[in-house]
Amino acid sequence: MYIRSIRTRITIWYTCVLTVILLIVGGAAYELLSYSLTNEMDKALDKVAKVLIQRDQSKSATFVPSDTDQVTEIDQAFHRFPVFRHEDHYFLMRDSFGNIDEHLSLPSAEKLPLSKKAHDDAMRGLSTFETVDGLEEYPVRILTMPVMESKRLINLVQVGMSIRKIDETRVRFLLIMAGVLPLGLVLAASGGWLLAHRALKPVGRMTAAARRISAEHLSQRVDETGTGDELDNLAKTLNQMLTHLDAAFSQIRRFSADASHELQTPLTILKGELEVVLRSTRTPEEYRATIESALEEVDRIARLVDGLLLLARAEAGVLRMDRQEVDLGQVLEEVYHRLKPLADSHGIELRFGEIEPLHVQGDRECLQSMISNLVDNAIKYTGAEGRVTIGLQHDSRWASILVSDTGSGIPIEEQKHIFQAFYRSSEACALAERGTGLGLSIAQSITLAHGGTIQVESAPGKGSLFRVSIPIVS
Ligand code: ADP
Repeated sequence: MYIRSIRTRITIWYTCVLTVILLIVGGAAYELLSYSLTNEMDKALDKVAKVLIQRDQSKSATFVPSDTDQVTEIDQAFHRFPVFRHEDHYFLMRDSFGNIDEHLSLPSAEKLPLSKKAHDDAMRGLSTFETVDGLEEYPVRILTMPVMESKRLINLVQVGMSIRKIDETRVRFLLIMAGVLPLGLVLAASGGWLLAHRALKPVGRMTAAARRISAEHLSQRVDETGTGDELDNLAKTLNQMLTHLDAAFSQIRRFSADASHELQTPLTILKGELEVVLRSTRTPEEYRATIESALEEVDRIARLVDGLLLLARAEAGVLRMDRQEVDLGQVLEEVYHRLKPLADSHGIELRFGEIEPLHVQGDRECLQSMISNLVDNAIKYTGAEGRVTIGLQHDSRWASILVSDTGSGIPIEEQKHIFQAFYRSSEACALAERGTGLGLSIAQSITLAHGGTIQVESAPGKGSLFRVSIPIVS
């Protein structure tokens, strides 16, 4: 089953992890408690055994179980360990073969078994601790300690104690754990749920805000808490994204408005001219003049549509390129010959600067149209007597096409806009009538599609220099 709510998932995960941790810690605590209690009892047994052996060796008289004084003495030895004061205890003396010395043992202790391991250990001078079931209600912890004389086993002392207290403590611990653990888990799960609810509250607010924001309300923003935490960062990132989207949408809207305006103007002129000529009968010359003017407008519309199509394809990343090795010097020469008459008609000197023979990988037609745009602009925005220079230079791994003019120049604040589609400075509109505002954005799209860059250096009144850099074929 898939749980949709993050809050519920976090709480379930948190509770599961906490359960595992508590079980591990509880288990470890239980083991530690058992170990330390058993260790405590073993120490007590060891001390009791040693005290009784010493006492036995120091006194000529030995225990006589029937002697109440001496029984009390054994009790006292056990009573030195208050924790086990009330436990049933046993004391047994055996000879080296394991036979019970009834005179030296407590009668109740005669049921203590002597295991083979304990006897073998004793033969080697080692003590053995064992827990034996079935002697009474609770198991009995037994210490078998050898009494040695010149490395020879002479006696075996066995002391024992019921582990009732240890068992009871263990059971009490388990009962406390069984009560406290579920209660702790319920409390922790409720706390986890509340914390997750609190932590995720801003997400709910952000979702509601994001739902409100559509393409029509892109200026709205998600609330930022200003705390600098992950959710605040998410809100900031969403807002940055909205700012970019807003800008992109505005650009698209502006582009569509500009495109329809640019198309509408020549269409209106065309329609007007045709309507006027149809109103009355005209001479063949008048018809010819109207058709020529109409053709000019159709040309302008065709150029615009071509440009828009190219830009749309470049934007969509589907600009078709017929890539081949292109001799840039040759392309520059073709552009020169095509635009020379235009420059001459404006009284502008079009000339070559330094030309290096360079080849690039690219689409010959596109490159030619890009360079034509730049040279055409240079002619458009340069007055009579001006000069336009075309150059080709080698700059490490780049071929740089340079188009410079001595024309009007471009103010710094306008330079960042000139590559936008339909951008035309008012001065440009006044200076040159022809132009669609698409030339430089098309030039930039073609350059970018060739992996290159386009830059402008210009100052008003001093002319402009456009530099297109394209990677050279190695
Ligand atoms: P268009 O030339 O059709 O107006 P472009 O995209 O080619 O459109 O150019 C955009 C704007 O950049 C022009 O309107 C003009 O203001 C400016 N510009 C481009 N080339 C030059 C240049 N060589 N000298 C001065 N201004 C220029």
